[in-house]
Amino acid sequence: MKIAIIGAGAAGCFCAIELKRRLPEAIVDIYEAGSKPLAKVAITGGGRCNLTNSFESIDNLKDAYPRGDKLLRRVFSTFDNRDTWEWFENEGVKLVLQDDHCVFPTSQDAMQIVNLFLTRMRQLGVNILTRHKVESVKALMDEYDSVVVTTGGCSRQDEFKMFEGLDLELVPPVPSLFTFNLPTSPVRDLMGTVVEDAQASLAGTKFKASGPLLITHWGMSGPAILKLSSYAARHLAEVRYDSTLLVNWCGGDDLDSVRSALQNNAVKNPLKLVVNSHPEYIPSRLWTYLVTKSKIREDARWAEIGPKGLNRLAETLSNDSYHIKGQSRFKEEFVTCGGVSLTNINNKTLECVKHPGLYFAGEVLDVDGITGGFNLQAAWSTGFLAALSISSNH
Ligand SMILES: Cc1cc2nc3c(=O)[nH]c(=O)nc-3n(C[C@H](O)[C@H](O)[C@H](O)COP(=O)(O)OP(=O)(O)OC[C@H]3O[C@@H](n4cnc5c(N)ncnc54)[C@H](O)[C@@H]3O)c2cc1C
Repeated sequence: MKIAIIGAGAAGCFCAIELKRRLPEAIVDIYEAGSKPLAKVAITGGGRCNLTNSFESIDNLKDAYPRGDKLLRRVFSTFDNRDTWEWFENEGVKLVLQDDHCVFPTSQDAMQIVNLFLTRMRQLGVNILTRHKVESVKALMDEYDSVVVTTGGCSRQDEFKMFEGLDLELVPPVPSLFTFNLPTSPVRDLMGTVVEDAQASLAGTKFKASGPLLITHWGMSGPAILKLSSYAARHLAEVRYDSTLLVNWCGGDDLDSVRSALQNNAVKNPLKLVVNSHPEYIPSRLWTYLVTKSKIREDARWAEIGPKGLNRLAETLSNDSYHIKGQSRFKEEFVTCGGVSLTNINNKTLECVKHPGLYFAGEVLDVDGITGGFNLQAAWSTGFLAALSISSNH
């Protein structure tokens, strides 16, 4: 049996190892366009490789995977984050679970993962053909019994050319996981400020996300913003990254509860300066900025600002508005949403409905996750299932 894998990335190499273990006699060839296999894995997680997540903070899979959650629910029933943990530990890679639920190798070195895969592929006899860009999947299908496409995220539509002649449904690629540019906002002067529990949303839409928010010299970043960029990736591309960001600096508390907390403060501390009474969760420089933005003078005391002042401050704290114009990459971490539509594949096997023997795994599918190890988890799980399906069909 001859099997071709297109792309020596996370999904492709994982799939190759699992295939050769199940079908030792099979010829497994990986075609890789670049000069080195696993080049992206080597730089994941800032070189530390956040290879999965405990999923403990995730109530609903859609919160982690804005696209592809239904497919992944099925795929994870075969191979999930716990299987990933066990798989790597069985291979001798000790793992550590951080407080933020992210999982890394204890070595904190992505090269440990790259070297493990390279060693196992060599031991098992997987053939890796580097500098071999596949131009036509269809042509390769004539040469092999099975073909697994694991080419990763397409950043440009012309990368879909390799699917010509297959009559597949393809979803145009757009970026996911980015930070927001706020080119006109003076809030950027507060760069480096972090609010641990903010809620970010887009005006006029249902997209919202919570978590730490970081003010940067170009705008806003941090987990709340990255999650929002992922949830709203397609919408933001459609409006050309020109939108209104609403920030609730009080972790999502509504206007009334923010106002009554302010009212209590005003009653307790009538003579205290408003600028000097920032809540614990809002750093003092940001508080001064928000007080000024609410048109409250820096020398005003609580007793002086009256119900209108309190209302304006409560409105700013719970519904602060910024004009987004453009996006920036987050630490070069870049994930695409879009790719091979899930309508093309059998979600039990990852085999193409129209072309038996053709499989897809990893980011080439219209599946993507937020940061935190979810994208690599999707690559391992889909790579595993593709290998299992091919070996069971054999
Ligand atoms: C800087 C950075 C940091 C990241 N950090 C994390 C992290 O810590 N945790 C996490 O979960 N996710 C992280 N991600 C996302 C994660 O790396 C990807 O989701 C994951 O690598 C996808 O795996 P894949 O196998 O589908 O694709 P890839 O790993 O991208 O591999 C695809 C391979 O296919 C090859 N290829 C493409 N086209 C062809 C062709 N026509 N012919 C032959 N070969 C081809 C490419 O050269 C590439 O080697 C990060 C991404 C980036 C960019």
